[in-house]
Amino acid sequence: MTRPLRFAVIGAGMAGILSAIELRQAGFDDVVVYEKADTLGGTWRENTYPGVACDVPSHLYSYSFAPNPDWSHTFSPGPEIREYLERVAREHGVLERIRFGTEVTRLERSNGRWTVEAARGGREHVDVVIAATGVLHHPAYPDIEGLDDFGGAVFHSARWDHRVPLEGARVGVVGTGSSAVQIVRALAGAAGRLDLYQRTAQWVLPVPNPAFTDEERARYRAQPEAMRDLREELSKTFTEGFANAVVDAESPQVKMLEELCRANLETNVVDPELREKLRPGYRAACKRLIISPHFYEAIQHPNARLVTDAIVRVEREGVRTVDGELHELDVLVLATGFRVDRFLRPIEVTGRGGVSLDTAWAKRPTAYLSISVPEFPNLFMLNGPNGPVGNFSLIDVAELQFAYVMQLVERLAEGAAREVCASQPATERFEAARVEAAQKTVWVTGCRSWYLDDRGIPAAWPWTMDRFREEMAAPRLEDYDLVR
Ligand SMILES: Cc1cc2nc3c(=O)[nH]c(=O)nc-3n(C[C@H](O)[C@H](O)[C@H](O)COP(=O)(O)OP(=O)(O)OC[C@H]3O[C@@H](n4cnc5c(N)ncnc54)[C@H](O)[C@@H]3O)c2cc1C
Repeated sequence: MTRPLRFAVIGAGMAGILSAIELRQAGFDDVVVYEKADTLGGTWRENTYPGVACDVPSHLYSYSFAPNPDWSHTFSPGPEIREYLERVAREHGVLERIRFGTEVTRLERSNGRWTVEAARGGREHVDVVIAATGVLHHPAYPDIEGLDDFGGAVFHSARWDHRVPLEGARVGVVGTGSSAVQIVRALAGAAGRLDLYQRTAQWVLPVPNPAFTDEERARYRAQPEAMRDLREELSKTFTEGFANAVVDAESPQVKMLEELCRANLETNVVDPELREKLRPGYRAACKRLIISPHFYEAIQHPNARLVTDAIVRVEREGVRTVDGELHELDVLVLATGFRVDRFLRPIEVTGRGGVSLDTAWAKRPTAYLSISVPEFPNLFMLNGPNGPVGNFSLIDVAELQFAYVMQLVERLAEGAAREVCASQPATERFEAARVEAAQKTVWVTGCRSWYLDDRGIPAAWPWTMDRFREEMAAPRLEDYDLVR
């Protein structure tokens, strides 16, 4: 018996597009993708700052079913990634399934189905919800006194105001994460002056970013298997050299990353005083590693200044630091990252028996294998809480998660169950094991980072990528509540 299923996919970023394509591929045609914005692309629509690019090689940061021979660089620029997502969505008939300008505000479980409510009105009933609402989606704003008093332009890196002229302007960048580093690299030399306000120094891995030659692109076009081989090779390198390594603080690979970062600092920063200011006091890869072959060159540009005195407040003319100096600025960029504990929220989600997701997540977000929450049946998250985040491809992660979810969906379609969600005991067991395993990771070796939750436990997958692949291969049905 095949039971017809109606799906709501929330979000038309990388993971929502993937879901729409894969559902159709699996023969599910009754699919609505809700997207609150007017265009697709998620991260790559929102982050348009100068220098935005991926820091996972493009041939790995691509869907496995849509290799792209035309990537311009090893790490291609953001607009190219957005165009890629648009093209893949168009070619796979996703666009006609997306309801743009439709923000989902409520999800409620009633009569064995989900009621989906949108901000602009209207209610619909669906059998399965796939939440692809993003991880790095809600900007985090710093709590700096006087931000509103600033006389110039101030905006978050994910809300870049392109009307503001930069040429010759005095620009301040707050933060030293991947976005800040990309912005500094793009603006040093273009802006009249560039201040980087650093609270924490970062280790920087200088991976080169060459452009692909016309010959290489032609070869990839003519021989797709060469592209597949490259993807495989990159996947292996990232899995072994990085993803598997960071979960063991004592692994030789982590030590090697450390050496490479240290050598970069020693070799490429000339002034000993600046070098010490740029030297982190924690281990490499404890925070998300910065990948940039040009950051040190950029911060040593005559127009650039590294400011390590803490900001005390923002004033009309600029930024006042603790040493009393006023740094006069025209533009202040808040490259201060994202609120990483939101996931579906602020959607008001009410599960079985009237339980709310906010209550279930009162302490902090948890989910069995980062996909399913007890009492929220037929609701599956992609890139949900405590999943593999780090310097590897989230496209790869989302594909593995989706294939896993599909195996549960098949149970629903076959009529083996009407409802499926992780059981409470399995979720608790998983969470306890996760917290314990986290103690071995490099993320807990003495730094503050967005990986850490309020207890200082990394909100991330603490095992190897190989283990993640194994877990995603097939659901353990005994860990699920299946209601017939
Ligand atoms: C600057 C930057 C660089 C990055 N570089 C890399 C990289 O190199 N490699 C890597 O693997 N990852 C990278 N990431 C992480 C990146 O977020 C993911 O790779 C990926 O784009 C996430 O896709 P997603 O679809 O899960 O979420 P998103 O891209 O965030 O998309 C979520 C979508 O859901 C929509 N949405 C949310 N809530 C609702 C709602 N209630 N109703 C309707 N629609 C809603 C949003 O508008 C958005 O379009 C980067 C992130 C940033 C910010």
